[in-house]
Amino acid sequence: MSVLVVGSIALDSIKTPTADHRELLGGSATYGAVAASFFSPVNLVAIVGEDFPKAHIEYFQARKIDLTGLQIVPGKTFRWAGEYHEDMNTRTTLSTDLNVFEHFTPKLPPAYAGAEIVLLGNIGPDLQNHVLDQMKRPRFVIADTMNLWINIAKPELLRLLPRVDMLVLNDEEARQLTGEKNLITAGRKLRELGPKYIALKKGEHGCLLFGENEFFTCGAFPLESIFDPTGAGDTFVGALAGYLAANCTEGEITFQHLRRAVVHGSVLASFNVEDFSLERLRKVTPEELDGRYDHFRAMTAFHA
Ligand code: AMP
Repeated sequence: MSVLVVGSIALDSIKTPTADHRELLGGSATYGAVAASFFSPVNLVAIVGEDFPKAHIEYFQARKIDLTGLQIVPGKTFRWAGEYHEDMNTRTTLSTDLNVFEHFTPKLPPAYAGAEIVLLGNIGPDLQNHVLDQMKRPRFVIADTMNLWINIAKPELLRLLPRVDMLVLNDEEARQLTGEKNLITAGRKLRELGPKYIALKKGEHGCLLFGENEFFTCGAFPLESIFDPTGAGDTFVGALAGYLAANCTEGEITFQHLRRAVVHGSVLASFNVEDFSLERLRKVTPEELDGRYDHFRAMTAFHA
């Protein structure tokens, strides 16, 4: 099974307390698609301008990401700039230049309409709804969101939620959307808005997974040096979607599948933060991935 990934492709400029890099490959769909491609075939729907470097296109192709749904249009590619604070956990958005992204209407090539696993990366909820309008009957829809959409497009987001199986968001966004301080209460309230499952990310503290009567807490892989947290959330959810596509080919997707999927997501995300942009993901080997997964399991297992 392949994963359909829809979202942003960007050229990111990232400042950290020790470094400053310009026009790096970024965007929610970029991280999501590359992460999913570690596990399964990927179909990508996104938009870039004619200035988008060929080398990045070739990288997607090398990862066997299908680009039939990539729109390359006159104009400039979306640019985003952010600065991380001393703790590397919080960041300020310095600029958002939408450019061609401003008029993006995701259009699904006919071959994508039957996709079974769908990852609606971080784009406006109106566009996420528009993607679902073009689909037959996906088996499992995952949606990511951000504070911006909760602020400016809440009605569209609330219309989307009953149409998705899993909502992925961070702690701050969960509090903002529900008005609840307590994350367990927030998780329960988010389920009442429609999604069967909620993955609530807590940055370097891992994530909480909520199901009907099920709950799973997953730590983050402990790291001493974090170079660039950009895209960690998108990598997490991309790997999660790819894992489901590769491992849940028949029958219902269960909470047990999702538990394993979030651990794979956390492991791949932990590699992503070890370098800027997708530099670490470009180099990570299947052996390194398996090794860290086993290490993670050994660190978190206990016998009653
Ligand atoms: P994350 O670190 O998971 O929040 O994702 C960061 C990525 O989101 C960056 O690579 C940005 O290019 C992208 N991004 C930032 N703002 C937006 C936006 N308004 N819409 C879509 N993507 C965005």
